[in-house]
Amino acid sequence: MKRRPTLLVTGGAGYIGSHVVAQLGARGERIVVLDNLSTGHSRAVLHGRLVVGDIGNQRLLRALFREYRIETVLHFAARIVVPESVAKPLEYYDCNTAKARTLLAECERAGVEQFIFSSTAAVYGDLAGGQASESSLVDPANPYGRSKLMTEWMLGDLSAASRMRHVILRYFNVAGCDALGRIGQDTPEATHLIKVACQHAVGLRPNLEIFGTDYPTPDGTCVRDYIHVEDLAAAHVLALEYLREGNGSLIANCGYGHGFSVREVIDALGRIHGQVLNVRESGRRAGDMASIVANSDLMREWLGWRPSRDDLDLILASALAWEKQRLARAEIQADIPEPAVTGWRKSAARPGVNP
Ligand code: UDP
Repeated sequence: MKRRPTLLVTGGAGYIGSHVVAQLGARGERIVVLDNLSTGHSRAVLHGRLVVGDIGNQRLLRALFREYRIETVLHFAARIVVPESVAKPLEYYDCNTAKARTLLAECERAGVEQFIFSSTAAVYGDLAGGQASESSLVDPANPYGRSKLMTEWMLGDLSAASRMRHVILRYFNVAGCDALGRIGQDTPEATHLIKVACQHAVGLRPNLEIFGTDYPTPDGTCVRDYIHVEDLAAAHVLALEYLREGNGSLIANCGYGHGFSVREVIDALGRIHGQVLNVRESGRRAGDMASIVANSDLMREWLGWRPSRDDLDLILASALAWEKQRLARAEIQADIPEPAVTGWRKSAARPGVNP
């Protein structure tokens, strides 16, 4: 039995989770990552032990909580593609809500008292003016947002009924990669604008579509608050410190507080890339809100968050550099599958408890 306090990071092999693991690991935290590698990659886990398994596997969770003294759970594992959630809602409620309930139940059983949850700006309704503060109306426009909001509510109710304290971070639109280029957005089927636009820029997609040009926004395309993944990861480190100081539960927006339209993002990327992008205008995409921008005063005041990459060009340059590097790696490693996870970072779950 290892008694040193340990952080359990679900989804730590995925895009945002891996950046948080990198920052926590650099601070010497003891980390166990639980990830089923459905969209994540073992190579993205730069610190700690990787357990390959599912957050809905109660026996596996129980084994982990027995083996480690889990001080805090950071819960990233989720399905995150809005249009997919519209097409396959029950898969989203299963992964993001039902399995989260299993995780929370095991946390309660094990006496875990600190929980940091990856939530989303998609919990907000279509707001007049488009700026969301944490007290704004929640009224998700799609099953993804609803599946996350239900977990926020479960967590809120559990904290009210127990010694659990939580920080819920509502992410706005995350992009970019870590400064050393080790990890980044690595999901080939991603649908997010900056990812898709960078894939197009490096030649992986023949064109780029703008979904909807008739929104009530200055140029008719949707407006979003794009945040660099490293600033977002830093918010989690602060959230952990906040809970360790004994503070009460908190919901906080993670965005910079200003928005850019789809056209502005595409124009900026074309300028940085030095080439005109092949852009097509299409109809609206199901589940999209016209405009959503964070009011992030709470993050700044309560968590002391001081973002250092609040610059669209910098975010785009980082995302583009990652995509170029990813392409170069794919060309070098063409047809070579990802190496099997071995050694200290791999833990086959105990016999009988793996899914
Ligand atoms: N978008 C687009 N073309 C794309 C991908 C996205 O026009 O290929 C738009 C999308 O309709 C939305 C905005 O870009 O208005 C941001 O979408 P994204 O999927 O990046 O994030 P979301 O805000 O849906 O979480």
